Amino acid sequence: MTPSPFDPASAPDYLPPAQMKQLQLDRLRGVVQRAFDHVDLFRARLGERGLAPADIRGLEDIAKLPFTVKTDLRDTYPFGLFASPMQEVVRLHASSGTTGKPIVVAYTREDLDVWTSVMVRSLASCGITRGDIVQNAYGYGLFTGGLGAHYGAEALGATVIPISGGNTERQIMVMKDFRVTAICCTPSYFIHLLERAGELGVDVRGLPLRAGVFGAEPWTESMRRHIESAGGIRAYDIYGLSEITGPGVAIECCAQQGLHLFEDHFYPEIVDPETGEPVAEGCEGELVITTLSKRAMPMIRYRTRDITALIPEPCPCGRTLRRMRRIARRSDDMIILRGVNVFPSQIESALLSVEGTLPHYQIVLTRDKGLDQMEVLVEVTREVFSDQIGALETLHDKLIYALDQTLGLRVAIRLVTPQTILRSEGKAQRVIDRRNPG
Ligand SMILES: [Zn+2]
Repeated sequence: MTPSPFDPASAPDYLPPAQMKQLQLDRLRGVVQRAFDHVDLFRARLGERGLAPADIRGLEDIAKLPFTVKTDLRDTYPFGLFASPMQEVVRLHASSGTTGKPIVVAYTREDLDVWTSVMVRSLASCGITRGDIVQNAYGYGLFTGGLGAHYGAEALGATVIPISGGNTERQIMVMKDFRVTAICCTPSYFIHLLERAGELGVDVRGLPLRAGVFGAEPWTESMRRHIESAGGIRAYDIYGLSEITGPGVAIECCAQQGLHLFEDHFYPEIVDPETGEPVAEGCEGELVITTLSKRAMPMIRYRTRDITALIPEPCPCGRTLRRMRRIARRSDDMIILRGVNVFPSQIESALLSVEGTLPHYQIVLTRDKGLDQMEVLVEVTREVFSDQIGALETLHDKLIYALDQTLGLRVAIRLVTPQTILRSEGKAQRVIDRRNPG
């Protein structure tokens, strides 16, 4: 059974654009009214601008509305942005911040149904269907990844293994013994699984596993190539964030050329991250999302901090949902080193352009006599290490050169043996910033 335009669950993926715009406008007006009626912060901000919900007459009027930012969720912690009474809220999730209080998100029964429906459409878009055995290695708990993928895969009719994250050896045993055909986890955890499987003498390429749905952290095209060849699978990028719903905001299709946004529920805009002004069609900027159907916690023009661009051309797969380029960086990922803007994804691309390196690396920032220093730790294969010292030196020089070319900066490289860098079971910690201790 192949998902098609005739699959009722995926039908909205193929709506004619005019019909989609009308649906978006109707829903936008509804969600703005709801937020105005029930969320003090939003009502106050509209008031400051002399705006009322009735001023939203066309989709373009969305640009008049104020942005919502992550600190708004922290400032109103825990329940200040809820638009539903607790009697109607059936689930809470929370995401841990790097500092201070977490952010809390709420769902009504209808919100959970929408979330499940976009996850069904997401998994179907990756060719996953009834009969597939899905190993869900996203963490279950306050993090939205686990339960989001779980209910979507179950509603699709696939067989779900709710293994959650961690316990890598058991993951490999289950993958092999249960004849798993699809896996959901972070891309960095899957690479870790592949490595561990290799050490245990399990060749994942020989298993029935054929698809991976990877998200919750930015990853690159080079990482995809590595995963696909080392795992013998197709690797799909899924995008989502708790503030909007969780996983299932956008997903790749068989074309793997950008992620289709489920824009019947999540209205996308791209703005200049500095000025907040909309960018020209197809240009890069920060993704801003408005939840069109969210009831418990509507998000109006939420600044995601993720940098991408909308792709105006239609997709070969036939879906009419607009696509966005895969997100390789976040605007707050940016490292400023001696006045130069550096993104971890640039470092990753440079490292991977040099043969012989596994995509496991860590960036360590320190400050020495007031001057910022960056050291990139790169794990290299045992073969390179066991070779004469010459091979290591050659590789070291190549890496320095590749980074210099990409960043326009001299940074230090340290080659380390496999498994030196601590593995994460969730999002990989790529940057250790020791510049401002305490
Ligand atoms: Zn497509």
